[in-house]
Amino acid sequence: MISVDILVIGAGASGLMFASLHQSKNLLVVDANEKIAKKIRVSGGGKCNLTNKLVSFKNYLGDEEFIKDILSEFSNKDVLKYFNKIDLVIRKKNQYFCKNSSMDIIRFFEKKVKNILLKCRVENVTFCDNSFYVKSSKGLIKANKLVVASGGVSFKELGSSDIAFEIAKSFGHKIVTLKPALVGFTLQRADFWMKNLSGISLKIKLKVGKKEFFDDLLFTHKGISGPVILNSSLYWQKGSLEIDFLPDIDFKLRYKQKQISSNFAFPKRFIKEFLKSIDLEDKVIKELNSEEIEKLKRLKAYKLAPAGDFGYSKAEVTKGGIDTDEIDANSMQSKLQKNLFFIGECLNVTGELGGYNFQWAFSSAYRVKL
Ligand SMILES: Cc1cc2nc3c(=O)[nH]c(=O)nc-3n(C[C@H](O)[C@H](O)[C@H](O)COP(=O)(O)OP(=O)(O)OC[C@H]3O[C@@H](n4cnc5c(N)ncnc54)[C@H](O)[C@@H]3O)c2cc1C
Repeated sequence: MISVDILVIGAGASGLMFASLHQSKNLLVVDANEKIAKKIRVSGGGKCNLTNKLVSFKNYLGDEEFIKDILSEFSNKDVLKYFNKIDLVIRKKNQYFCKNSSMDIIRFFEKKVKNILLKCRVENVTFCDNSFYVKSSKGLIKANKLVVASGGVSFKELGSSDIAFEIAKSFGHKIVTLKPALVGFTLQRADFWMKNLSGISLKIKLKVGKKEFFDDLLFTHKGISGPVILNSSLYWQKGSLEIDFLPDIDFKLRYKQKQISSNFAFPKRFIKEFLKSIDLEDKVIKELNSEEIEKLKRLKAYKLAPAGDFGYSKAEVTKGGIDTDEIDANSMQSKLQKNLFFIGECLNVTGELGGYNFQWAFSSAYRVKL
């Protein structure tokens, strides 16, 4: 049996950040994968969008006070300082990426964190005589302190599992309902016309509840995706989204233009399919009656009720998670079990697209007080 003081489950963003800050011979990180940090490798198109210029609790779903407090101790500036020691990072608009490749972050962690046991899948945890007993594919591991950093359940191909939630439940924690997030939407029959636009991308404004996003929408053969949709999936529960396909301009018909299609600067395929969907021919603008003009005005406030989402296999994150009411925000320790800590995506805190989830993984890891 392996025996350590501190055991970290998960060599992902939060587990590695924690281990790099608490270097000790008596700390072991275990991970089910054959390599560390698979999500960091593929994130941001291989360049890892590790934080954002503007980070606030408003970019997250979860308990405001809990999030605010934890982000403030290890902010976006602290993340940049931490990694910029080796001049890794560049900014594109508000997002910070690796200058060359995500591998720079991984090498950074590899240098700092030595005690990692790979291909070690954790199956369950029990507590007895002040120690945790962790059953794993490499045998039993005994630890005085346990840091659970095993993430959410999305993208199983990158090693995700529900072990954090199973461990939390076994110690009496509540789990806020899990759902795929930062994910594309499938469509209802009324919006199937969009499937014929696969590959087209448009800048749109989108309202979901009280939130509004302005970014690219990508039509795919399965439904709709792109940054604006991924972000809205975080806040969408049920019902309609409202899309403004003309985000920068007022709806205006120029009567000098002959056809409807030449009135708008849309890709030809888009306006053709849109007109079909509202049962309107591409006719001369002067000939439009008031009812037809009303139909065209839907371009400014198109109501779309998604059928569902693309599921966990395509979702960048899992929303919901371990209820933060039962986690001490000063230490990340469970309020129900001494020496048990939870960090990263397994908690009920989910960020928008743009580096907010790595920021959360790093800030929550920094906050651990053993
Ligand atoms: C394709 C993709 C791209 C993304 N891009 C970005 C981005 O650019 N910016 C951003 O901010 N966020 C991005 N995210 C989200 C971000 O990767 C996660 O929110 C973040 O990695 C969560 O950190 P974590 O430490 O909680 O979990 P993870 O980084 O997921 O690490 C968890 C680790 O635990 C291990 N593990 C799981 N179960 C077990 C088990 N039973 N036994 C042992 N080990 C186990 C896993 O193998 C994994 O290594 C992306 C996600 C995906 C899927």
